Amino acid sequence: MGDRDEPAPLGALIRAEIATAGPMRFDRYMALCNARYYATRDPLGRGGDFVTAPEMTQAFGELLGAWCVAVWQSLGRPDAVLLAEAGPGRGTLMADALRLADRVAPDFAAAARVHLIETSPVLRTAQDLRLRGRVAAWHDGIETLPEGPLLLLANEFLDALPVRQFLRTEHGWRERAVGVEGERLVWTTIPASDPPASGAAAERGDAALAWVAALAARLARQGGAALVIDYGHEGGAADTLQAVRGHAPADPLASPGEADLTAHVDFAAVAAAARAAGAAAHGPVPQGAFLRALGLPERTAVLCRAARSETAHQLQAAARRLMDADAMGLLFKAVAIAQPGLPTPPGFAA
Ligand code: SAH
Repeated sequence: MGDRDEPAPLGALIRAEIATAGPMRFDRYMALCNARYYATRDPLGRGGDFVTAPEMTQAFGELLGAWCVAVWQSLGRPDAVLLAEAGPGRGTLMADALRLADRVAPDFAAAARVHLIETSPVLRTAQDLRLRGRVAAWHDGIETLPEGPLLLLANEFLDALPVRQFLRTEHGWRERAVGVEGERLVWTTIPASDPPASGAAAERGDAALAWVAALAARLARQGGAALVIDYGHEGGAADTLQAVRGHAPADPLASPGEADLTAHVDFAAVAAAARAAGAAAHGPVPQGAFLRALGLPERTAVLCRAARSETAHQLQAAARRLMDADAMGLLFKAVAIAQPGLPTPPGFAA
């Protein structure tokens, strides 16, 4: 990167905005931080800030590719289907999904039009390198996806969208915001404009829920299904915000735009938002159970037979980490959002 396009420090821009407009509502702060964070780096992998499932084992993307093939079959094998991913990172998941589809379902691979929803120019370039020739277009959001039946994948995407945090005080509901003391950013509160109906404290992913509602409305209207995987809970958390930098926890206010800010996804609210927008919601189911149902142990065993022993160890360790209850197996969850009437997608049967 040349210094020509070196951006101004985000902290200075935020302090300037607070100086003129007053304390910044936390969700705006989180949106600004993450836009800067993802626009200026590839945060994935051992040298980055965090590691995700597709970067741990190729089996993850392959199984999600197989999931797409199965849902495409239940849609009646349309000649053209949008195969979209939201927040595709390095493009690894999509590359693994397409490689599997090419091999086991070439008619699906020929029907699939790959569209990526990604705002980071750095990651768009990484995705282009990984998927060269296969990407029909990139989008900033789902609104610009072409018409037609859609299969959409989103792994660790919703957790990056901004959340609001509400606190009930003696003087009524307040909302978390960011203020300035000297040169430092500090926590403060502002009056809450549209507080939750109950409870003493609550976190609400308004941006994620609006995104899910738009996706669900589209699926109900034009057909298809989406698979959303993330870490989260089912209802009612007060503060799940975390900042991560170099694989270690960081202070969310210390260096805006330099740490990854995420919050747990409220899967009960996601499923409710999908249903309210006219789609069916399946799950959430724990990631461990979901990946076991899709055949992660078996797929891993097949890959291990063809792998050197060191790689085989890594593949086994990754599969265990993705499925184990005390690692990612329970905290991570999968939910499917589908056009009404579609058979229950793989991995969601009761
Ligand atoms: N799914 C990938 C990457 C997860 S990181 C994986 O599992 O490895 C989050 C991804 O979402 C990154 O690609 C990031 O650039 C993208 N992203 C974050 N906020 C976004 C937004 N508001 N709109 C579109 N993409 C966003």
